[in-house]
Amino acid sequence: MAGASGNVPVRVIFLGPPGAGKGTQAARLAQWLGVPKISTGDMLREHISKGTPLGLKVAPFMVDGGLVADDILIEMVRERTAQPDCANGYILDGFPRTVPQAESLARMSAGGLKDVTVFSMEVPTPELLARLRGRKRIDDDNGPVVQKRLQEHHDRTEPVVKFFVAQGSLQRIDGLRDIDAVQADLRQRLKVEAPA
Ligand code: AMP
Repeated sequence: MAGASGNVPVRVIFLGPPGAGKGTQAARLAQWLGVPKISTGDMLREHISKGTPLGLKVAPFMVDGGLVADDILIEMVRERTAQPDCANGYILDGFPRTVPQAESLARMSAGGLKDVTVFSMEVPTPELLARLRGRKRIDDDNGPVVQKRLQEHHDRTEPVVKFFVAQGSLQRIDGLRDIDAVQADLRQRLKVEAPA
């Protein structure tokens, strides 16, 4: 499989505002590569639905569209990426969302961020709003919550885009195309052998 070809783990980061299609594309890419998709939003929602102490702590931030504290996210991702199923690589969906998170990822990854592929999914705001309002997932995707999520992205995650631009590793992806076209583009950009 592609993820296991060669000795270098295939590590991919998806950046982009809510509604840009990160989760969908990350899931398909992860399946193709045979590596886990790590969605920090899913992990946090699982804590909330199970009623864990962490879930109780983070719920108020998630409900209003704000970001959860960096130290919580950094520890969660550090633990998850240390699991044996990440040995051949992993795909991050929703992390890093702040510059301190990106810096910590560089420290926790063997070899830093040198071999990491960073895709920035780009979709104009009016289309994002239309997509988010059409979502029926949970109540974090409506009205003021949508606005706050987009604002948080602008204020705290756009600097992460600049961080990776400065590293020369950001690849901008036109997320307005249909799902299959975007996926084909991502696969073509990854420097791995196609899975058998
Ligand atoms: P998502 O499903 O990725 O849109 O995440 C849903 C919510 O989880 C976000 O609005 C944040 O409240 C929280 N969250 C997920 N990932 C992060 C992160 N890397 N840093 C801070 N908060 C996060």
